Amino acid sequence: MSDHSGSAGLVRFIDLHSHTNESDGSLTPEELVLLARRSDLDALAITDHDTFSGYEKALPFARDTGLDLVRGIELNSRLNLGNGTERSAHLLGYFPRREPSQEMVAFLEEQRKERRSRNLRLADALQRRGVNVALEEVESRGRSLAGRVHFARILVEKGYAADSSDAFRRYLGEDAPTYVHRESQTIEQAIQILRNAGGVPVLAHPVRLSLPRDAERQLLLHLKQAGLIGLEIYHSEHSPTLQAHYRQLAEELNLLPSGGSDFHGTPKPDVDLGTGLHGNVRVPREFLDRMRELPVEI
Ligand code: AMP
Ligand code: ZN
Ligand code: FE
Ligand code: FE
Repeated sequence: MSDHSGSAGLVRFIDLHSHTNESDGSLTPEELVLLARRSDLDALAITDHDTFSGYEKALPFARDTGLDLVRGIELNSRLNLGNGTERSAHLLGYFPRREPSQEMVAFLEEQRKERRSRNLRLADALQRRGVNVALEEVESRGRSLAGRVHFARILVEKGYAADSSDAFRRYLGEDAPTYVHRESQTIEQAIQILRNAGGVPVLAHPVRLSLPRDAERQLLLHLKQAGLIGLEIYHSEHSPTLQAHYRQLAEELNLLPSGGSDFHGTPKPDVDLGTGLHGNVRVPREFLDRMRELPVEI
């Protein structure tokens, strides 16, 4: 086992955004740890949607294989754009040094309840349109957390949709007739929840907000004031040009740079752990070191 930390020119790489089958990824926590090891990653954050159970199940395997495993979470939130419109925004939360508070654990339980109620309404809406998908089928796929990705898989298997994006277009996405809204907190509230729990909030894949440059900058300034600490610079959906843009923005606004592939396994077959889409992601170890160097009382 070699240690390159001291040698010039050899950067060690990590991945701070990944999903297991405890949410909507396809690999078990153990398989994900082994893949991270095979991919020569130095550290991995598991950032499942609304659940820590993938991280917790992965911990013993990470210890056995010497992988630096970071507890993470991906939260859904509402972004108010001011002009009467709202957009959904994803927030990553990291706990690189300490355990989350009990309040955080209780909050996630509430999120999962709300998600289950949405799933129930979604299954009803589909059945009313003659689509035969039962909640039980979906939940049997989702382990600790079932979601629209699991609905999509079943819709494809049963021939209601050609592929996952077709399932979202016809049945599950915001523009589909059977779309069901899910209640969630505002992004400012989500940031506060993470901060109060001792976590490091990072805005995920900012490209998805598709904001013009001015509005994007204003928003980031506002979120920083609301307690945001980091910005996801590297992501499979960020082109090299966008990465450079976000890197510069993070520097200017004094936000910590972060990054990861958003690996899901088979639901996103072109995205590789550590390297993203055709190698567009490479996250230096330094990003995690900087997160760990934050004062404890952030
Ligand atoms: P949920 O959290 O259950 O509402 O599901 C959200 C997940 O669905 C996201 O994290 C995406 O992975 C996936 N998703 C959302 N929109 C689409 C889309 N248009 N095509 C494919 N996957 C999507
Ligand atoms: Zn996901
Ligand atoms: Fe996301
Ligand atoms: Fe994600």
